[in-house]
Amino acid sequence: MISGPSGAGKGTLIKEVLPRLRDAELAVSATTRPMRAGEAEGREYFFLSEEDFARRVSEGDFLEHVRYGSYSYGTLRSEVEKNLATGRTLLLEIELEGARSVRKNARDAVSIFIRPPDFEELKRRLVGRDTEDPAEIEKRLERAREELASADEFDYIVVNDNVDRAADELERIIIDSLKGG
Ligand code: 5GP
Repeated sequence: MISGPSGAGKGTLIKEVLPRLRDAELAVSATTRPMRAGEAEGREYFFLSEEDFARRVSEGDFLEHVRYGSYSYGTLRSEVEKNLATGRTLLLEIELEGARSVRKNARDAVSIFIRPPDFEELKRRLVGRDTEDPAEIEKRLERAREELASADEFDYIVVNDNVDRAADELERIIIDSLKGG
């Protein structure tokens, strides 16, 4: 599980590290948030309407799901099951509450928290990437304070001060924890 506040650079680091790992893949979550430029259906997310998301919740399709900002996000059971069948390593990119519920149910899951060097840098990145409107950024920053205060719950903390360095560290943690488990 790879967690950390919005703007910490989880997505960037995962994109960097995933091709270096053999037999690992990233679970594609479902969300109700609008697709950003450059994203594709079924690649970054399965993009669902609120209605479809709620229906799939009631049908038990999610391992966990949360509200984050103004939208819903959830880990699909089908993604995890598909992966268990092949025995590959599954990476989940997930916020704090989701990580907490997965941790309860999958005790062998390794959890990694990605954090920015400091709060100002996080703010700068979130505003700079220009993917959310100001109200949404405000919600994400509020949530970020809570997430940063919970970093110690995670097995590992990676400070994303420099993408190359942080990606190397993340890769090492994943490889080492696979050896251990
Ligand atoms: P974003 O809108 O920036 O893609 O994602 C917002 C937050 O939702 C990020 O912290 C991301 O890690 C988290 N997230 C993405 N997919 C899931 C999921 O399936 N479950 C949970 N709990 N959080 C998710």
